[in-house]
Amino acid sequence: MKYALITGGSRGIGRAIALKLAQNGYAIVINYVSNDEAANETKRLIEEIGGICELLKFDISDGKVVETALQHWENTHPEDFISVLVNNAGNRRDNLMMMMSEEDWHNVIDTPLNGFFYITRRLIKPMLSNREGRVINIASLSGLKGVPGQTNYSAAKAAIIGATKALAQEVAKRKITVNAVAPGFILTDMTKDLDEDMLKKMIPAARFGTPEEVAAVVAFLASPEASYITGQVIQVNGGLYS
Ligand code: NAP
Repeated sequence: MKYALITGGSRGIGRAIALKLAQNGYAIVINYVSNDEAANETKRLIEEIGGICELLKFDISDGKVVETALQHWENTHPEDFISVLVNNAGNRRDNLMMMMSEEDWHNVIDTPLNGFFYITRRLIKPMLSNREGRVINIASLSGLKGVPGQTNYSAAKAAIIGATKALAQEVAKRKITVNAVAPGFILTDMTKDLDEDMLKKMIPAARFGTPEEVAAVVAFLASPEASYITGQVIQVNGGLYS
């Protein structure tokens, strides 16, 4: 069976991606780190529409933990293959650089960026052997434009964009595509502390986006129709930046 693994699939954008890929026929593996209630709710929503969903709880920022979790998954699924990897899990620890602690810098580099590295390095090997695969990395407007107060987050997301372009060229001959999706402001837990009324004045579409609007692009990139698109960054930001 072909699976799609969505990191950070318990909530927000990851949940919408998991649901959309389940609708499109993929068996789903949801990774998350702590919120069992949200992960179980995503599983329930997928099963409600007749999909298959497994939960795989692990911290993506720890290379040894990633290796153990994915090896265990492979051992228990000898006939199955993760053909779609969505590197979505991420976190924010905002501060002006002059006041940013080393811990906040490293934590945000460790989670989306190092997590992307550990998981993708592990799962690209079976994709290469199977000559098939899709890697979709959730970057951010922050990684393209830079956002003050987010030097750690902007650095992690810009690095993911660079890695997306490099890896795309390494694996294209084996029919694997690697792309990034860069959302602007999307309504999730991650943005609930932001002043939407103030920020939406800057957005040409005059509103925050929805997780489903990001998931639609991910689903297209995962589909056979997107087989000649690789190394790209698709922005979903209501016209805020291009
Ligand atoms: P969210 O609602 O805060 O959800 C974050 C998800 O990541 C949760 O599933 C969380 O798991 C998981 N996670 C966090 N740290 C993890 C770790 N160390 N290991 C495994 N899973 C971990 O975030 P979101 O808004 O949906 O964002 C999803 C992605 O889109 C992120 O990469 C974010 O940077 C990016 N993005 C978001 C926006 C936006 O406006 N929301 C804009 C641009 C880019 P638990 O549920 O267990 O905590």
